[in-house]
Amino acid sequence: AKRDPNQTEFLEAIDNFFKTIVPVLEKHPEYIKTNLLGRITEPERGIQFRVPWVNDNGDVQVNRGFRVQFNGAIGPYKGGLRFHPTVNLSIVKFLGFEQVFKNSLTGLPIGGGKGGSDFNPKGKSDAEVMRFCQSFMTELQRHIGPDLDVPAGDIGVGGREIGFLYGQYRRLKGYQAGVLTGKGLSFGGSLARTEATGFGLLYYTEALLAADNDDLNGKKIKVSGAGNVAIYAIQKATELGATVLTASDSNGFVYDPNGIDYKVVQQIKEVERGRISDYAKRVETAEYHEGSVWDFDVDYDIALPCATQNEITGERAERLAKNGAKVVASGANMPSTPEAVASYKKHNILLGPAKAANAGGVAVSALEMSQNSERLGWTFEEVDNRLKKIMQNIFAESKAAADEYDLGKDYLAGANIAGFNKVADAMMAQGII
Ligand code: NDP
Repeated sequence: AKRDPNQTEFLEAIDNFFKTIVPVLEKHPEYIKTNLLGRITEPERGIQFRVPWVNDNGDVQVNRGFRVQFNGAIGPYKGGLRFHPTVNLSIVKFLGFEQVFKNSLTGLPIGGGKGGSDFNPKGKSDAEVMRFCQSFMTELQRHIGPDLDVPAGDIGVGGREIGFLYGQYRRLKGYQAGVLTGKGLSFGGSLARTEATGFGLLYYTEALLAADNDDLNGKKIKVSGAGNVAIYAIQKATELGATVLTASDSNGFVYDPNGIDYKVVQQIKEVERGRISDYAKRVETAEYHEGSVWDFDVDYDIALPCATQNEITGERAERLAKNGAKVVASGANMPSTPEAVASYKKHNILLGPAKAANAGGVAVSALEMSQNSERLGWTFEEVDNRLKKIMQNIFAESKAAADEYDLGKDYLAGANIAGFNKVADAMMAQGII
């Protein structure tokens, strides 16, 4: 903390993480003796660079680019690029640190990294975004590669940006499909990547319920968000026999006691780029309300926050308990505030942490790398089946870790411990690294 007093997000992430792995450290004095914690919290490498580009008016702009290669003990660095005005070194380090353990949990050979820029793609023309991406990649290409570091998308970096970044990489270094993931299907992308995080969230939730001899059939679910994660969470939840009561965006939410139809949401959000209020204009049984879906009283069983960070506050968590919810599985990253997490504990509400429950996206990204390496594309079913097994395994390992340390159903601590164990083992075996 003394070295990086301004890196509040990063310091908070470390603090929260270490609190949950104390029992592991007590069992392994060699981790303390070899200063494993000092090493694991220091990124292996961080690159910060200038990104100059010219806007449509001919003005020269300068943004800041980052790539933090946090930990490569178990495989090439892997993690998204975020383009958003709030991006700084602290945010990139916080996300990179979390990514190390999320990737470890998938059981696939991928290390952790993260990167991005304070560039804001909102309101920019396609040509401006392309010029920015080309300039960004002109520097980044020196530091990445299919066996070294494989970036993907995150906030502000979708299919369009990945296409521009990949195109520039190929011009500079030649064909290397496996250098980025989230690519278009015509140039090495994987089937089922679009659905992966939402589907994976439901496979994880199914496994969590199965541990208590329960299932999704007949369950009532509140989903927040109407984006990539939410749409495919709604689809899979419905296929598994649940009724999804809500979907939302940053203005308001729709409630339909008969169940939200994901195809209508998909049409509105993915095709028409409209608002969730349009849903109620099309589906008679649905009603639209302004405000947060978490401030709306209705009885339900499971909460799937799939919109954004800190959307469930302590107060909203109390309401969630009053409405009868027994499970919260995190589709979004960090959707619950620390007060909300404390409230879940108080009410014995089971929490599926983001690191575990939303790992389906990065897992399928790693499957995209495998397909690129063997120069083959797998069918949708094959990718989906593998995703399901990976999510079941993530839950099983988190539960086993929680059981081993007598933590009951604290699947947050379980996921942190399971993710940490593998990285720690690999680092110890590789000497003082
Ligand atoms: P999208 O941008 O596709 O969708 C986000 C949705 O959340 C939109 O409907 C958006 O509404 C809504 N939203 C944003 N801010 C708020 C807010 N303050 N209050 C209510 N709703 C809000 O993003 P994704 O679905 O890809 O990502 C959602 C979350 O999941 C993020 O936390 C992301 O980091 C995480 N995640 C995503 C993965 C993926 O593979 N996509 C993988 C792992 C995690 P609006 O249109 O009004 O902005």
